[in-house]
Amino acid sequence: MIWYPYQQMKTMKEPWKIVDAEGVYLYTEDNKMIDSVSSWWSVIHGYKHPVLNEAIKSQVDRFSHVMLGGLTHEPVQLLSDKLQQYLPGDLDYCFFSDSGSVAVEVALKMALQYYMNRGEKHRTKVLSLTNAYHGDTFKTMEVGDDEDYHFVLEAFGPNKNVIHIPTEVPALEEAFETYHEELNCFIVEPLLQGAGGMRMYDVSFLQRARQLCDQYGVLLIFDEVATGFGRTGNRFVADLVLPDILVLGKALTGGYIGHAATVANKKVYDGFYGDDPNKALMHGPTFMGNALACSVALKSVELFEQQNYMSKIRKIEEITKREMDGFADERIKEVRMMGGCVCVEVYDSETLQGYQQFAYEHGVFSRPFLNYMYAMVPYVIKEEELVQVLDTMKAWFR
Ligand SMILES: *Cc1c(COP(=O)(O)O)cnc(C)c1O
Repeated sequence: MIWYPYQQMKTMKEPWKIVDAEGVYLYTEDNKMIDSVSSWWSVIHGYKHPVLNEAIKSQVDRFSHVMLGGLTHEPVQLLSDKLQQYLPGDLDYCFFSDSGSVAVEVALKMALQYYMNRGEKHRTKVLSLTNAYHGDTFKTMEVGDDEDYHFVLEAFGPNKNVIHIPTEVPALEEAFETYHEELNCFIVEPLLQGAGGMRMYDVSFLQRARQLCDQYGVLLIFDEVATGFGRTGNRFVADLVLPDILVLGKALTGGYIGHAATVANKKVYDGFYGDDPNKALMHGPTFMGNALACSVALKSVELFEQQNYMSKIRKIEEITKREMDGFADERIKEVRMMGGCVCVEVYDSETLQGYQQFAYEHGVFSRPFLNYMYAMVPYVIKEEELVQVLDTMKAWFR
């Protein structure tokens, strides 16, 4: 029996069974649909990409996996070299893990231990955003602010070591004024809060956060698991404001295999570096640096770079604006757009009941949640396919 995610098994509708997938299309036995979700925002190059398929096929004939404890291999070395060269600033030190949630856990552990290693034991608090989503594991649930996890708060009470603030500069300044001595890090999904409702905010908030973090010696963590690799219309938001720790996941492998990276700058790395074994980073997921994942991730980054994906994303944004600007309905609260993301927020979640089936019948796979209907398409989508996705969203309200 499969236990499916985020759903009541008793009332869940039968999931569509996918028998094939290619480009932006998912195939069931009797339908084909454009995947407007990119399999949870990860399949940026589309399905069955020949270059990515080949990367895995050629690696699997050597070896699929060897552990990184005491061993290393070419795919993980090439990927970390590539990320070092590709990521901005001195974000050069790459810790691999198997999922975004774990990579966020690693980032939080790094930030805490960084201060412990320096003997600053009072820095135990994490600053994070309201409506934040950072993953499904325990610490990520705590720094997140997702209604689905409020049962955790009910069981354990609010965590005294996590402070949530809205994406507003006065709240940010106040939090730093009040808590700066106890803060070890500020973690954000930069510019675009995904699972918390596709909420978009201004870069000036992040610029101010960077200043305050510098002023008070607090580490700034960007969780770019969702925003990394172009989703906001920037390669990485870290290109605009440089964090101390960057977390990548989802699109890192082009959506082929779960893998993630927690990338630290030199200052953070140096906080662990030395002769004392007690100052080492105590983490090591079994499948970190998996050779198949690293091989496909390397090719994914190369494709992104060589085939000028940023221009593809600008085109997606342009078409989306053209098609969605001025689209309104009394049931719609707001239409938001940024890079390769568009979200229609409705007042009442009932408004979206039945939309998934409607989209299916219009050849589009969509997965609205709460009050949000959205699209985060694979970047290889053609203009007419994107228009079909957006037309389907609009048609629902007619
Ligand atoms: C999806 C997501 C995660 C969790 O990644 P998993 O691979 O599902 O564990 C963490 N942070 C953000 C911003 C995400 O969107």
